[in-house]
Amino acid sequence: MTSKISSFVLLVVFITLALSLVALIFAAAIVSGYFPVGNDLTGAYVLLALGVLGVAICTYVLVETRRRLSKLKIVVPPVRTTIECRKCGVKNVRDFQRGDYVFKETEPCQKCNDKMLITAIYREAKVKEKEKERFPF
Ligand SMILES: [Zn+2]
Repeated sequence: MTSKISSFVLLVVFITLALSLVALIFAAAIVSGYFPVGNDLTGAYVLLALGVLGVAICTYVLVETRRRLSKLKIVVPPVRTTIECRKCGVKNVRDFQRGDYVFKETEPCQKCNDKMLITAIYREAKVKEKEKERFPF
């Protein structure tokens, strides 16, 4: 859903950018005497202002969107998988890997060589708190 919104924003930004560039080109054409408007350059100034404003808005939106996306990436805490040995009770915690699910049998135990079992999959909450401290806003 987030990618849908950002691609829509990107589309709007690029349309605005294209229109701004057209406005700037027209402004330049008027100033260079391409259009027979005489000495009245008001239209050129208006187009120039619109073009500059459009480019400024586009740059701002793009920078803001990128900043927000990179911030989102940092805040997402890692998913951890807990693996337990049913025989001797050895407990291991590692990063979540694709295909992990609770009660799945994984690698053999380091102690007794019996097959170990995934007992929990969760998001690490501690990391989130740490990130909050680093980004108080
Ligand atoms: Zn064991």
